[in-house]
Amino acid sequence: MERAAYLDRLEAAGARMREHGVEALIVGASPDLAYLAGYAPMPMERLTALVLTADRSPRLVVPALERPAAAVSPAADALEIVAWTDEMDPYGPVEERLPRGGAVAVDDRLWSSHLLALQALDPGRRWLSGTAIVGGLRMRKDADELSALRRAAHAADEAFADALGSSFEGATERSVATRLAGLLVDHGHTAAAFTIVGSGPNAASPHHEPGDRIMERGDAIVLDFGGVVDGYHSDITRTAVIGEPSRELRTVHDVVAAARTAAIGTIRPGVPIERVDQAARSVIVDAGYGDRFIHRTGHGIGLEVHEPPYAVAGDDTVLEPGMTFSVEPGIYLDGRFGVRIEDIVVVTDGGVEVLNEAPRDLATVS
Ligand code: ZN
Ligand code: ZN
Ligand code: ZN
Repeated sequence: MERAAYLDRLEAAGARMREHGVEALIVGASPDLAYLAGYAPMPMERLTALVLTADRSPRLVVPALERPAAAVSPAADALEIVAWTDEMDPYGPVEERLPRGGAVAVDDRLWSSHLLALQALDPGRRWLSGTAIVGGLRMRKDADELSALRRAAHAADEAFADALGSSFEGATERSVATRLAGLLVDHGHTAAAFTIVGSGPNAASPHHEPGDRIMERGDAIVLDFGGVVDGYHSDITRTAVIGEPSRELRTVHDVVAAARTAAIGTIRPGVPIERVDQAARSVIVDAGYGDRFIHRTGHGIGLEVHEPPYAVAGDDTVLEPGMTFSVEPGIYLDGRFGVRIEDIVVVTDGGVEVLNEAPRDLATVS
């Protein structure tokens, strides 16, 4: 990402602040900071804060030891960088920029220790979530962001294809998870972010932590994994079976596949994202598994694996071109097995582009 793109984002954030009647925005060491300024310090207890106000140039308050890193970030020359040392009160340089008694928005990831300290300085201020400001910008990806998300999805597809070739029967979930993490990196991810491998009854737990269970013939295996490419995430789920699937596993997989197809069929600009959830859910309800679809249909994805908007009842975000999110219906039968299929999609001018291309059938592995 170029310097100019960050300056545009800082300006767009300022415009949204005015629309929302917000006089200052404070962003901590978080994905919002990476988005606005291209600066992604290690999250830690020391205060890092970008302070945006309507009338002044943005101020970036950093611990002194982080100054060299901040100074070489792409938008550094547009920021007034103020470093504080461990002997200093870090909140003064932030407080100086805040309006008396005004409305201040705060990024959701600013540590409560910092927020509480800032709130104590002027009880007359109104504090609100910065999600309406920066989250609203982050939802619509630009061409560079979409390119990174496409490359990430492609690399995850390739990792999955390779994973299918290895042997599952007799292996532990943990060993398959380790292998998947390596394959994500082999295919171009900077790092693996997560690898869920749930086999047999463990597949009924959507976020199962891979453990020592040894996989057996007939097991359904939910493989849900992803990593980071140029700061942007991949996230894919496929369900495999060792040997021949039971009739019920096949049926459940067909229902989940139909739910996915129905969900994808609703996606186009102008549609509230909650309708994507309704479309998937109604297929699963009609098949008699409504109470076994125990999570929302999807989540936004970008600099974070989970970010707004969410495909869930009650999220009325209207889809716009450039929005990216997962579509991941699932059915979970406690103590027996589970099935999930997940793809990342982009809303386009005319409808939808599905970024993942890995085959979605119930994969047979050995
Ligand atoms: Zn998940
Ligand atoms: Zn996933
Ligand atoms: Zn997901």
